Amino acid sequence: MDGNPFAQEQKVVTSSTDFSVRFWGVRGSIACPGPDFVRYGGNTSCLEIRCGDKRLVFDAGTGIRALGLEMAQCRPNDLDIFFTHTHFDHVCGLTFFSSLFCPDSTVRLWAGHLEDEMTLRGVLTNLMMAPLYPVSLEIFQAKVSFNDFRAGQTLTPHPGVTLRTALLNHPNGATGYRVEFGGKSICYITDTEHYPDHVDETIAELVRGADIMIYDATYTDDEYPTYRGWGHSTWQEGLKLAKAAGVKQYVVFHHDPSHSDAFMDGIARDVDQAKPGSVVAREGMVLRP
Ligand SMILES: [Zn+2]
Ligand SMILES: [Zn+2]
Repeated sequence: MDGNPFAQEQKVVTSSTDFSVRFWGVRGSIACPGPDFVRYGGNTSCLEIRCGDKRLVFDAGTGIRALGLEMAQCRPNDLDIFFTHTHFDHVCGLTFFSSLFCPDSTVRLWAGHLEDEMTLRGVLTNLMMAPLYPVSLEIFQAKVSFNDFRAGQTLTPHPGVTLRTALLNHPNGATGYRVEFGGKSICYITDTEHYPDHVDETIAELVRGADIMIYDATYTDDEYPTYRGWGHSTWQEGLKLAKAAGVKQYVVFHHDPSHSDAFMDGIARDVDQAKPGSVVAREGMVLRP
């Protein structure tokens, strides 16, 4: 066992056509362990999307640690990690991801929000800088590559796997992803702030008709005025977007660390009532389009 009580909850059965998303971390801003966060989970953002036998990881929040422990059982690993952006809650688990320490692993890191200001390698070098961090990037023994692109580009990391991307509305930028495989689609849209008077057309275009949309719903509409300009959205705004863009299943994600299990139960009830089939993301959950 890897110490994650959710890890064995739902086994992912893979086949060459399997398309699924598994949630390893669903929390925004900072990890929040404790008795009030047991059912939805306290780890920060990390998703695993399987496209047949290919594993695509999105973000390296604290949730990536348990994923690494699970993956250690099936070496050698060959995988991609796509960052939405490099705010701390999305990168802080990277150095605890065991695949990076396996000499027979290949890990390709991707980011699309840095434009020309910095490179992904540069940002991660700064992250692991003494005296904030005891080791540098050179500690990784896997074959690691750093791939910068520009949000808006389309990526094809593997034959039959297409990633359409778009720039989100977030301080320092962030990239939204639409993963397409076997005629189905899963969208990962975090971190982003909605506009007060209109649906974000860039995102609407990216997620149009998607089977699953995972969306930054950090706040409720009631809480939002206090946090205007912080770069996050509400579950009600995500609902509006899902309906406007004809999304089939809407997934509430990037939960505020103050939102207890009981609080999230309330959102889960309300969002399912407003658009049947909508769910609140929790650690260990697996969805298939
Ligand atoms: Zn975040
Ligand atoms: Zn952020």
